[in-house]
Order: sequence, then structure tokens, then C-alpha cells
Amino acid sequence: MKKWVYFFGAGKAEGDGEWRDLLGGKGAGLAEMTKIGLPVPAGFTISTEACDHFYKNGKKYPNELKKQVADSVARLEKVTKKKLGDPKNPLLVSVRSGSARSMPGMMETILNLGLNDKSVQGLAQATNNERFAYDAYRRFVQMYSTVVMSMSKEDLEHRLRAMRTRFGAKEDTAVPASGWKELVGEYKQYFKEKSGNDFPEDPMEQLWGAVGAVFGSWMAEKAVTYRRVEKITGLLGTAVNVMQMVFGNTGDNSGTGVCFTRDPSSGEKIFYGDYLTNAQGEDVVAGIRTPVHLTALAKIMPKVYAQLDKVRIKLEKHYTDMQDMEFTVEDGTLYMLQTRTGKRTPAAAFKIAMDMANEKLISKEDAVLRIKPEDIERLFYPVIDAKVDKKTLESRVLASGINAVPGAAVGKACFSAAEAEEWAKKGEKVILVRRETSPEDVGGMAVAQGILTATGGKTSHAAVVARGWGKCCIVGAETLDIDYKTKVMSSGKNGKKVKEGEWLTLDGSEGVVYTGDMPLVTPEFPKAYQTIMKWADEIRRLRVRTNADTPQDARKAIEFGAEGIGLCRTEHMFFTDFEHPEKSHDRQLAIQEMILANDKEARVKALDKLLPFQRGDFVGIFQAMDGFPVTIRLIDPPLHEFVPHEAAKQAELAKELGIRPETVARRVAQLHEANPMLGHRGCRLSITYPEILEMQVRAIIEAAIECHKGRVKVLPEIMIPLTLDKKELGILVDSTRRVAEDLLKKAGVKLLYLVGTMIELPRAALLANEIAEVAEFFSFGTNDLTQTTMGLSRDDAGRFLPDYVDEKKAGVFAGDPFQTLDTKGVGMLMRWGTEKGRETRPKLKVGICGEHGGDAESVKFCHEIGMDYVSASPFRVPISRLAAAQAVAEAKQKVAKSKKK
Ligand code: PEP
Ligand code: MG
Repeated sequence: MKKWVYFFGAGKAEGDGEWRDLLGGKGAGLAEMTKIGLPVPAGFTISTEACDHFYKNGKKYPNELKKQVADSVARLEKVTKKKLGDPKNPLLVSVRSGSARSMPGMMETILNLGLNDKSVQGLAQATNNERFAYDAYRRFVQMYSTVVMSMSKEDLEHRLRAMRTRFGAKEDTAVPASGWKELVGEYKQYFKEKSGNDFPEDPMEQLWGAVGAVFGSWMAEKAVTYRRVEKITGLLGTAVNVMQMVFGNTGDNSGTGVCFTRDPSSGEKIFYGDYLTNAQGEDVVAGIRTPVHLTALAKIMPKVYAQLDKVRIKLEKHYTDMQDMEFTVEDGTLYMLQTRTGKRTPAAAFKIAMDMANEKLISKEDAVLRIKPEDIERLFYPVIDAKVDKKTLESRVLASGINAVPGAAVGKACFSAAEAEEWAKKGEKVILVRRETSPEDVGGMAVAQGILTATGGKTSHAAVVARGWGKCCIVGAETLDIDYKTKVMSSGKNGKKVKEGEWLTLDGSEGVVYTGDMPLVTPEFPKAYQTIMKWADEIRRLRVRTNADTPQDARKAIEFGAEGIGLCRTEHMFFTDFEHPEKSHDRQLAIQEMILANDKEARVKALDKLLPFQRGDFVGIFQAMDGFPVTIRLIDPPLHEFVPHEAAKQAELAKELGIRPETVARRVAQLHEANPMLGHRGCRLSITYPEILEMQVRAIIEAAIECHKGRVKVLPEIMIPLTLDKKELGILVDSTRRVAEDLLKKAGVKLLYLVGTMIELPRAALLANEIAEVAEFFSFGTNDLTQTTMGLSRDDAGRFLPDYVDEKKAGVFAGDPFQTLDTKGVGMLMRWGTEKGRETRPKLKVGICGEHGGDAESVKFCHEIGMDYVSASPFRVPISRLAAAQAVAEAKQKVAKSKKK
């Protein structure tokens, strides 16, 4: 019989901490904590496989589940010595979601399950606290109605507020038992009105309702959106954790908190967290009340604090990573409710990984594996430019709050998540301002530059989600009075008002909100970044180059650690003079003259004008890359891209060149192609117009000679694009060598250079053994290779690809194949091409220069198939360096694991 349910309690667990895929992160953590002897309430986990079964079978549970759950409930009753629904001393349980990857607040939770009109009296008796019992009951009825039955939160909140007013209670804690009793009655009446049924009294019926709601929440809009934004794919579903309730709200000797084994913002090795006296766990996460710092707990309950600190040390050692823990103190007794790998800011990710390796808690390879590509991207947080003087800053302070996620952000104030999404679509920069955020806001949070809330602590929903994204976030700016109706917020502190659409600047590091838009700058890399990247460089085998067309980009890429240029798209130099943009027109005119030329003689004349421009650019690039290889690709795009298409612009060009506008128009019409991406482009241009190739090779080699003479080491690699046949490539390689040799001979210079090709067409990959006879290197142009292998247009696929990626629609691909390699299809051609090429030429140099060269997953695939290097845009070079090292470390770990088995 298949096992769907895993029990834990009384020091034993059927599950294991490694079984995250099966038990979800929460379930695995509870099993593990139970096993290592931490104080965890007993319970059981319904596996993610059950959720998978549920969705694959028309939302039906597996046959065996009912009995397994009933058996587990019986076991739980035995361990806890309490019974569900018992009118004397009832067992109450929480029902919580938890998938293999943490999705903070995106799925459902139900607390205090098992209460009914009889057991609530038992609870009152057992705790000798009627007020507490009825408060627990109303919380349960409220959660069950909204979460399981999808009834209106606002309708229930409205009844709660009205009751509070009737009883003259400002806070929940001031409401007497009779108030809660009344409210339960009202809730139940509402329940009956809305559903036509009485509120379920049977605890098992309640339990199945809750299980269904948790499974249902896996496919809720907000959860699906979160997975899309976080690129979480391939999970079975959510597990359901049913656990004995413990109460943090039985009085001042109780409380609840969230804590981290290290500071999740800075990475410092300090005990860090939030605590709320006399509260239930949801109060902390929801950010409804602002909690106190954990150090306050040390004063309130020193013994509990000391015990918690021991748990902290034990868990971090056990998991060898920073943990994020939830705990509850019930009448002075500590209970651990959750542990998971803590989300952290990118700077903290680097610091924690470095420190843990230095503490010998993990290896350097582990440290490198701990960094995510996004951590690098988000490392370079902008800050407010130091040029903004103090006085200006002071005069613009609107409010201050808790610095949940560092960095600065500028945008227009927007008070709803949906509007934030709309504005962002139009290209507006927005700051999402909310009293508090809820998981429904996740779409708006994702597109916002920064997030500001009036309530909540560092572990509130907004803070946790924003931190995971490395997005500037300030919470708990309590002096702000936010009016959603009039779309205005005012600061009680200084009376300032900000209306929707007005600019705001957030300083997430200091937790200060400013009016107006201030200039931001990006700071230097933190120290830990340099250390980790140094380790990555020591570990990786793949070389990392950059795609750069200008000396400036080349210099930037060197700063980011590039070891050469893998692609210089020479045609970009036809459009713009990057060193002197004001002079761009001269080169544009030369290329246009070349295209409009009637015969070879006129073409050569125009090309001669282009030659010095190209040569100059190449000199700059060789100098920037001093000693590193530089791959220069000959012209690729179809010629029509260089000439004007509107009549007025054509007339202007005709005037400049001294020809008739009709001549220009005729030539442009001639160049028109129905499908230019498969038309007269790439090396086909050089077959038709060999003089273009000759000019470009001349510019490259002359620049190389010039640099060589100036003692700059040069390693040019001349690359021919869009090859499809050995004979075709052979013709062009011969011409290239003829021009190059002639120049070198005349200059009396000996210089090593390579001539190779891009592999961008399936035929070239399939016939790689033949192509390698004439090519000295291959560079996979996976932008075109993806386009031509999959038959998806690079330019048009955006219209429908989102449907192919959306798991709620077609879900054909896990991601956009133009972003992350389709390793199955395109990858097969790459593997074949590399192997076949090397059969002919064992030392064939192989690289990649499509966009995938800067995508971590794709880089790992390139490592696996034995490439020599990847090439990425300058800002992505560090990501590729890290991914290349991770590929080595992951492969090693795989081998070690299989040996262990
Ligand atoms: C490619 O096709 O992958 C490539 C790098 O060339 P381009 O993007 O310029 O077509
Ligand atoms: Mg291409």
C-alpha cells in the first residue's frame, strides 16, 4: 500500500529532513527537528505526492488517504493524550501548507481546528480561560469561513470591528469572553446565510475541508504568479502539515516569534528576530502588530531565550546553513514550529557563504553553490547619490520605518498592486505603498521599484518576499496614514501629504521615505563578493568571455572578470561611433553609400571610407583586451537594415550622396525580403560581395599589426556567421587567409590568428565534422540556432511564447527557450556538433555566444558538453563565472553521492 502520510512526534519521525520534495520544506523540517530532539509538537504530513494525485485525478484524493489520515489522527491523539472534539480537554490542530520551495504566505493555513460548540467549553475549562477559548474559536470560524469556504474577509472583519465598538475595546486583548461568544454566533449565522449549511461541528469534516483548501491553494492565482516570478517549476505540489496546536496567546507568559540564525539583511553572525507577546504566529507574519526585537525576549524570559539560542546553534550546525525559524512560547514552554533555509539579501548571501566556509562549516565549493545568479544581479543595489546634500535630504523626509531590504528606489506612489502592474506595463516606475501587503499583492510587488508599508516587522510578508527579490523595502512606517479611497497618504509626523502619482524615494538601508525623485548610484562590490568570485574562478574549468562591440564595453567586461571577447558584432560599428557618438553620421553614410553602389568599383570606394573607422575600433578593443583572445564576427544582418525606409529620410540621403531619391527608393525596394532572417544575411553577404569581407579582414589584421607593433598582445579570431556548408565556408576562409597573409607578409609581422565559424543552423551542426575541416573554432550562435531548430521567430515568438511557458495554459516549456537553452532539442545539436567537430579536429576550440552564454542553467549545460568557453554580455559575466564553477561543484557532488550509495 502506498504511503501518503508521515507521522512525527515524541522524538520519532517517519519522514526525513532530506525529503523536501515529498514532505515539503516545512514537513521535512518538522521531521528533522523531531529526530534531533528539539521540542516540536506532534503531528503528521500528507505528502506532496497526494497533492499531485489530487490534481491528476480530477481533484480526488488517493483511495488509501482517508484511512491513513484517520490512523494518524488516532496516533496523534494517543501521543498527545487528547482527543479531537473532546468536550473536556480537546486536541486542537493547525493545518498548514508547505511545498519543497518556500513560498512565503502564498498558500493557506488554518489554526485551532477541532473547536466546536462543545469542545470550546472543554478548552475553556482545561485552560481555565474562557476568554482565550472563545477568542480561539472565533479565529477558527473566521479562518475556516474565508480560507475553506472563500467567504468575504471584509464582511467578517466588519462584524469584528462592530463588536469591538459595542464592547468599547480598542484592541483584541481588551475584548471579554462574552464579546467573542457573540462574534462566533454572528460568524456562524453569516456562514449559514452564505453557504446554506450550518458550520461543521465534526472535527474530521473540518479537517478534510482544511486539507482540500490547502491543496486548492497550490493552484490559487497568487501562488501560480509567485512561482512564475520566482521561476519555480517541476514541483509535485504542496504537502499538508497537521500538527497539535500550541498557543502563544494564553497571556503574557506566552508569545510567538520568527528568528534567524544570522542577520538576513547583512549576513552578520548575530541572533536576529522578532517577538510578539501574547500573540499567535500569524500576527507576526501578517505584520498586523509591530513586534519587538528578539533581544527583548532575553529580558522577558531569559530561560526561554537561552534555550532558543541553543536551538539556533544546533540547527545551524545541523543544516550547515542560515535557518529561519518560527517558535511559540506557551506558558513559558518553548515549541519549535518550523525551520527552513532563510531567505537573505544578496549581500548577506555572499557574507554568510564566505563566513561559513571560513568557519569550516562548509567547503569553498559549497559556498559557491550557495550563491544564486540573482544574488549577483541584485548585489549592486543602488543608493541615493552622496551628492544630494544633508539639508535637502532632511527637508524631504516624509516618514521613517523599518529598513527591511537595503538599497534605494525611486518611483511614483501607487496605492494598489493591480494599478502598480498596469502602470509598470506602461513603462512607469512605481513605489507600491500599502498599509500592509498580503500575498494577493505579489504581482504588484514584483513590478514595483520599491515597497513601502505602514505596519509590520522585518519578517512580515512584504519584507520576506521583497528580501527574496532583493527589492528595496521599508515596513512599519507607522506615522503614515494611508487612505486607499482618496489615494493620498499623510505623515502624522510632519503633516506632509503625497498623492497617487507623486514621486517618492525610498532608502531601504536606513528605512527613510523621502518625497520627490532623487538620483541613485550603484555602489562598489562588497568584500565577500570578491572572495567568493575568486573561489569560483579557482574551481571552474570553462573560460568566460564577453559579447562586446566597443572598447568601453570591453573595458567594463574586464572589470567584471571577462577573459576575452567571444563576440564582437562588427555591424554595430557601422551605426555608431561609440568613442565619439557625434561623429557617427560619417560611418553611417559610408555604409549606406556602399549599399547603394551600382558596381564593385563604387562599392570598394565606399568600403575604403569605412575601413579606418573599423580599424580604429578594433585597435581600441585589442588594447582593452590586452592579451586575451578577441573573436570578431564579420557582417551579419541583411543590408536593408542600414538604409532608410521613409521617403523623407531617403530624400535626405539621396541629397547627401548626390544621387536621385528614386535610385535610393529602388535599391531599398530591391533589398526587401519577405523573411529576412532566413534571407540574404550572414556569410551569404560575403559570398555575393567578397569586397565587404576583404575590407573587414583588412581592418582587423591592420589593427592587429598596429597593436602588435605597439607591444599590445593580440589574439584575433575571425568568425564567419550563419555558415551552412563546408564549401561555402571554405571559400570565405580562403579569402580571409589570402587578405590576412598578404598584409602580414607586407608588414613583416608574424602573428597568430584563427579563422572559424558560428554554428547557427541545424545543417551546420549536423555536418560539423565536415565544417571542422575548414574551421579552426566553433561558436554556437544559440539565438539563431534556437530560432532555426525550433522554427520560432526570435522577433515574433514573444506574442505566444508566454502561453507556452504558463503552467496554467499550455506549460509546454519550463522557460523561454531564447533565455534558457532548450537543452533537449537545441542542446542535442550542440552536443552532436561539438563531438563531430572534434572527431575531425580534436583540439577544435568550442564556445557559445548566444544570449544563453549569460544564463546560469545554460552555462552549466555548456560545461557538461565540454565547451571551452562561454561568452556573455558584460553585466552577466559574473553570473557565468559563478555558474561555470557551480557546474564543476555540482558534478563533483553527484559523483560523491553516487559513490556513497
Ligand atoms: C546568435 O545567433 O546566437 C548570435 C550570437 O548572433 P546574433 O544574435 O547577432 O544573430
Ligand atoms: Mg546569429
